[in-house]
Amino acid sequence: MTTHQEFHRRSVDEPEAFWAEQAQAIHWHVAPRQILDYANPPFRRWFVGGQTNLCYNAVDRHLAARGDQLALVAISSETGVTREVSYRELHAEVNAFAAVLRSLDVGRGDRVVIYMPNMAEAVFAMLACARIGAVHSVVFGGFAAHNLALRIDDATPKLLVCADAGMRGGKVIAYKPLVDAACAEAASPPPRVLVVSRGLDPDAAMTPGRDVAYAPLRARFDGAQVDVEWLESNEPSYLLYTSGTTGKPKGVQRDVGGYAVAMALSMWSIYDVRAGQVMFSTSDVGWAVGHSYNVYGPLIAGATSILYEGLPTNPDPAVWWGICERYGVRTMFSSPTGIRVLKKQDPSWLRKHDLSALKWLFLAGEPLDEPTAQWVTEGLGKTVIDNYWQTETGWPVLALMPGLDLQPVKFGSPGLPMPGYNLRVIDDQTGADVAPGEKGVLVIQPPLPPGCMTTIWNDDARFVASYFSHFNELLYSSLDWAIRDADGYTYILGRTDDVINVAGHRLGTREIEESCSTYASVAEAAVVGVHDELKGQVPVVFATLKQGGTGETSGEAAARIQQRVVEQLGAVARPARVYVVNALPKTRSGKLLRRSIQALAEDRDPGDLSTLDDPGALDEVRRALGRGADAGG
Ligand code: AMP
Repeated sequence: MTTHQEFHRRSVDEPEAFWAEQAQAIHWHVAPRQILDYANPPFRRWFVGGQTNLCYNAVDRHLAARGDQLALVAISSETGVTREVSYRELHAEVNAFAAVLRSLDVGRGDRVVIYMPNMAEAVFAMLACARIGAVHSVVFGGFAAHNLALRIDDATPKLLVCADAGMRGGKVIAYKPLVDAACAEAASPPPRVLVVSRGLDPDAAMTPGRDVAYAPLRARFDGAQVDVEWLESNEPSYLLYTSGTTGKPKGVQRDVGGYAVAMALSMWSIYDVRAGQVMFSTSDVGWAVGHSYNVYGPLIAGATSILYEGLPTNPDPAVWWGICERYGVRTMFSSPTGIRVLKKQDPSWLRKHDLSALKWLFLAGEPLDEPTAQWVTEGLGKTVIDNYWQTETGWPVLALMPGLDLQPVKFGSPGLPMPGYNLRVIDDQTGADVAPGEKGVLVIQPPLPPGCMTTIWNDDARFVASYFSHFNELLYSSLDWAIRDADGYTYILGRTDDVINVAGHRLGTREIEESCSTYASVAEAAVVGVHDELKGQVPVVFATLKQGGTGETSGEAAARIQQRVVEQLGAVARPARVYVVNALPKTRSGKLLRRSIQALAEDRDPGDLSTLDDPGALDEVRRALGRGADAGG
């Protein structure tokens, strides 16, 4: 048996031979003529000249052997509807959806923004885009109009597909008015909007000439067959926007062939799921995990994917485990925050159902604290595997591989390097490799393996500047601090940049600051991520108000700032607290000292203050924390 270490070593020492073998796991319409082209670093092209299609690999390829097997189960504990879709039915739905897209003039290379909750049609829409070579860009439904508008303007879609509404905690959240607001704000709104109605918002207004209802079109194209568009391996398959250090989100661009191969490899080796088995990921389709392990990964593997809309505690805190029992889930994938929510409940809920089929619980997206890992490991009596990755990488960078050779779990560490990832931990100043046990920046020695981003949409320069320009050597910076122990296990210590992680959702502090600043009385805002027991981190705002303002009290201003952020960016970005201060700590060159503010907010030492311009500003922050105007709390 190949050991984890041997497998990994070969993947980085002989990448072309390794990946040529892995590429055999997917269907190629035309075989690649070159495995890796790295003539233009840091850009690399995998499986050059190969022609394939994600939808074909995820759907058509399985029809003969497993047409009647469940491909997708979309369960909503909000609407009470469960939709079981076999591979044959999935094929029919995706073909019909592709025909609808074609009828709306969408073709190869066109962008389609998808703004939907976890419902079956979101998956059909994604696969339909993949089928015809259109580039989908799914926007998380928890984002509000402004965030959607930013993504629309960057992707310039030919079509936006949305649901009438989502639901959370029994409350209907209308999507269509948010789409209308985003289209009004956007400089290049989509010419057409396709509305998939679940009947949750019967009053959703339709704009004549722009908006089209899905149901009549679906009926018209029932039984349609749409040919697969064969794409060169390196053509874009989809965009997924993520936060960086500026207010402008980055359109992470994925390819076709490399992504399909990485999905195939990760499904059996990491997630230990093969054809005919069942995987349940609790992610939203709008996140990287949703793309890779609710849609493409399980379907490319010929497995059954479970998609869930709802809270982990509704109708009771055993709802996830009931799903595991009912469908014989082998591998479950969730987030540390999801488990911390359950941890507030009695642990007996973990034992309410027969979990004999369940082998692994994978958790990702944010640091997994030891008490939570311990609690769920003991409570379930299953192996819990932390895995570390980023929207950019599309699949795990660090994990364990139970499908190949399970190495011991070490609580606190997401484990060992995954195939193709040549990882180093280096000194942020000198760029030299640090010794085991020392802190440094986690970097990937390029070329990046298949599946990782190929570039930032329409912005190769930003791709190079954001990820490859931090050191003298050409290295991909993860922008995460890390420590590697003597056994090669890596521990992640948090971001090196101004990105924060709220319940596994990545947010840019700059984006929130810009949103605060749109509130008329705000002069300036600093946003920092502050430790939170449940969500890992929460955004906290420190704002100064304009002179001679509106006469509102600090408390009123704080509440309105909070409301503004929710309206513009969505509830996911809701500041936990807003403090109004008279000054913000800055360097003499005018840069906000976010790290010092964050340290004070977490009751830590503010660190190096040699560049601080006005010591009084730090006292302001201390004063606010002691008796500040607190909105919401
Ligand atoms: P996202 O692109 O939203 O998945 O966010 C990626 C970031 O989340 C990483 O750069 C890390 O800071 C953090 N992250 C993801 N997974 C883990 C993990 N297993 N342990 C610690 N941090 C993680």
